[in-house]
Amino acid sequence: MKTTICFMIDSLRPKDITSSNTPFLSSLQSNSIVAEIIPPFAFEPDVAYIAGLYPEQSDEGTMFWLSPPPIKIRKISNIFSFLDKTPDHFNIFFRYALRAYFRFGSSSPAEKYFRTTANIPISLIKYFDIIHKKLMYENNFCNGKTVFELIEEEKGNWLYLGYPLTSSSVIDIYNRFKRIKIAEFDFIFAMINKLDIIGHKYGPDSVERKYIMKEIDAYLQKVFYLVKKQIDNFNFIIFSDHGMVSVKSIVNIWEEIHKLPLKIEKDYLVFLDSTLARFWFFSEKAKSMIKNVLENINGGRIISEKEMKIYRIRYKHNKFGDLLYWVDNGNIILPNFFQGNKIPMGMHGYRNDCLDNHSFYMSFSSFKNVNKKMSQAIPMVRIFPSILNNLGIDYTKYTQERPID
Ligand SMILES: [Zn+2]
Repeated sequence: MKTTICFMIDSLRPKDITSSNTPFLSSLQSNSIVAEIIPPFAFEPDVAYIAGLYPEQSDEGTMFWLSPPPIKIRKISNIFSFLDKTPDHFNIFFRYALRAYFRFGSSSPAEKYFRTTANIPISLIKYFDIIHKKLMYENNFCNGKTVFELIEEEKGNWLYLGYPLTSSSVIDIYNRFKRIKIAEFDFIFAMINKLDIIGHKYGPDSVERKYIMKEIDAYLQKVFYLVKKQIDNFNFIIFSDHGMVSVKSIVNIWEEIHKLPLKIEKDYLVFLDSTLARFWFFSEKAKSMIKNVLENINGGRIISEKEMKIYRIRYKHNKFGDLLYWVDNGNIILPNFFQGNKIPMGMHGYRNDCLDNHSFYMSFSSFKNVNKKMSQAIPMVRIFPSILNNLGIDYTKYTQERPID
């Protein structure tokens, strides 16, 4: 296998790569294959790049779906549902305590690190479970073979750097690189998440985000030269999972549906993601009333059958919802079950025509002389065969998608 170093920079946009923001990546582009990537539906794109699957092929899209969580959570939901009526600050402490309880009470890494109740009303947490019970690098992560699993089948060695195994800070990851023998690994995958956190908080064009980009770029350069010093022939892939979009306006679905003569839990259930509102109906009356509200509320629209086909989200069950409403580019549902009532400055999870939501891909090979910029935006599932191809694994056995080359 050919040593392949892969950095996933959460929320890096193609247009962020400039000589002032990211001097190193910008100059490396002239010896690389560069592409603009269209992320899959919603905001959980891991299976697309690590296994080449579309959302409907592996139940991907959102973090929660309609499925009863473990019994201890259902009990908490019933006992503490009165907290939904208390001021937010009280609720926050309760959620911190819950998070700690999950963390210390679980044995599986995914349960331990990703189990959360986000900002779901406590009375509703008994209905919704987290979808992923495995971490990306664990076996049986999804309905397909991941890059990690295929490397193991080929008796190769991989190393995952980033949360939850290590810190996801680029400085800490650089320090890890300094301590390891890079040649011992065929594939090193590092996940950097600070740009996403700062992008949500300060917005995609903020000075705070530019500062982080510069920092990431500088440390990527340090890692690059460290690899170059130790290995003659290597691939260096940089990509992101989605972009970051400036939040323009708010769509308040919670308020609108509460004006209806319907009872949540009895007539319907709802999950409010940041850019999606997902509904389950228990009566025809609830369905028609809510549909009517959604058709008349400005700022988004119900996902049509045609869009379900385009986005490959014709799931075989209704755990993601009977009806899905998607906000227009740059809008956000508020309150929602993640940000609560707090308006973020940046968000992702928009339709394909939202260019700031697109992500970035760049592949450098020390033994190749290429300078290629793909003319069209490429679906994220093509990153999977690209990584395999770089490693020297025959991708045709695992996907019909072509590598980016
Ligand atoms: Zn994010």
